[in-house]
Amino acid sequence: MPSIDSVKVAVRVRPFSQREKDAGSRCVISMNSSSTSVYDPKNPGHMKTFTFDLAYWSHSEFLKDKDGMLVSAGSNSRYAGQREVFRDLGQGVLDNAWQGYNATLLAYGQTGSGKSYSMIGYGANRGIIPVVCEELFKPIQNQENKQYQVTFSMLEIYNEQVIDLLSETKKPGGLKVREDQQQGFYVDGLKLVPCDSYAQIERLMEQGTKIRTTASTSMNATSSRSHMVITIQFKQVQYEETLFPLFNEDITKQSIINLVDLAGSERQKSSGSEGDRLREGTRVNLSLTTLGNVISALAEVAMGKKVLHIPYRDSVLTKLLQSALGGNSRTIMIAAISPADICYEETLSTLRYAERCK
Ligand code: ADP
Repeated sequence: MPSIDSVKVAVRVRPFSQREKDAGSRCVISMNSSSTSVYDPKNPGHMKTFTFDLAYWSHSEFLKDKDGMLVSAGSNSRYAGQREVFRDLGQGVLDNAWQGYNATLLAYGQTGSGKSYSMIGYGANRGIIPVVCEELFKPIQNQENKQYQVTFSMLEIYNEQVIDLLSETKKPGGLKVREDQQQGFYVDGLKLVPCDSYAQIERLMEQGTKIRTTASTSMNATSSRSHMVITIQFKQVQYEETLFPLFNEDITKQSIINLVDLAGSERQKSSGSEGDRLREGTRVNLSLTTLGNVISALAEVAMGKKVLHIPYRDSVLTKLLQSALGGNSRTIMIAAISPADICYEETLSTLRYAERCK
């Protein structure tokens, strides 16, 4: 069944890492138009095929195995660089924002599968977040009879605690999530920085990324165990003049854009993990499961099914995303995967998760 409009799912396979190449890993993925197949390395001939809205291939070369044989080269799949991914996914988020609708764009996948590359990128290969932020300001500079407000915030959710990535002072126990009749859930005391240029946002993101690294070091964790949420609040006020000045009025459109780099989805093996690490793993898994439950419930609602309960309240992440998930909001998920046989189990579990969200 084709995906409904409000939840769009794209799968993106990254190129082989040096480690995978050195280990002589084989490619277990092939893509053909919008379908992605995963081959079971232990069971030759067995494969599972998934269909999503979009499938992005990252290898510009055909892949050969150790004997020089062509392996699942995905010859019909579309090679996509950062620009194509932005055009397909980021542009729609911006169009929505201009119309006054909310959007949430999430990257899901195991650690090292390419989530940060897709969302943030590096150097000339900028990801969706910086390009969305830059493109948002372009039309703003060209308009005169309207007023705009862009507000930026950046936080991290680690162990169900909220850490402000734009604030140097760390509150023990994290910031409190509160609920307001009108606003819904919000983070009490979170820095919301008004911005009037992309350069300003770029600086804030740099600052936030530094704080994120320092925070995880001091908690003896890695940033792969936390969710990063960037929120842009965009407000447009247009003064409408009519023939009768008495009827002149301000027309306001507001939208929220959430850009989320999720914690690594890999299962924590219970053997070997204990105490803090086990608790941390359980909480990450719990919030990813809740997110999956919320999105799949929303997908059912959008298909006209009756859903009695959407479990937003079951995790901090879904509470904070609530106002921009569901309803008229656009939800986009990038499922990031490795091409290598050694990641087969995790890749399969990522694609199964993404399938539930369609
Ligand atoms: P994650 O955020 O899921 O832990 P990363 O985004 O850090 O993973 O990606 C792991 C490595 O793979 C990085 O070195 C990154 O530059 C590289 N990489 C990921 N996706 C791509 C891609 N589509 N094209 C080129 N390199 C990629």
